[in-house]
Amino acid sequence: MDTIDAKRRSRNMARIKAKNTKPELILRKYLSANGYKYRIHFNLKGKPDIVFLKKKVAIFVNGCFWHGHGCKVDHTAKSNLDFWNAKISKNKERDILNNKALTSEGWNVFIIWECDIRKNSPETYKDLFNILNDSSTSASTTS
Ligand SMILES: [Zn+2]
Repeated sequence: MDTIDAKRRSRNMARIKAKNTKPELILRKYLSANGYKYRIHFNLKGKPDIVFLKKKVAIFVNGCFWHGHGCKVDHTAKSNLDFWNAKISKNKERDILNNKALTSEGWNVFIIWECDIRKNSPETYKDLFNILNDSSTSASTTS
């Protein structure tokens, strides 16, 4: 790995962190294609990428590298290991806290991994669609 590659890689990583990432767009397209209406960048703790207000479903699209998935896509950084490890474990901690906070407020939290989105298997969305399609799981307890 020469330095140019390393530089390019860290630029790519910076891009991966941004909103409207490719896996996120793929998932949004997929949901739209299946007739689901969602909100994006809704202001909730942890800023979930996709939200279904009525069903109280919050979806986080996690980049495998950034959230330390440990899968094949999560090619661990080859340099600055301490830096990346610290950053990633912070992300993971924050993920857990956000998840807990949202769950305790009655949200159904889904973490959908970049690698699963790339696999494009319906299996990935089974639980999510179960909740979205089940008319009895409306989160509203008021009506
Ligand atoms: Zn992964």
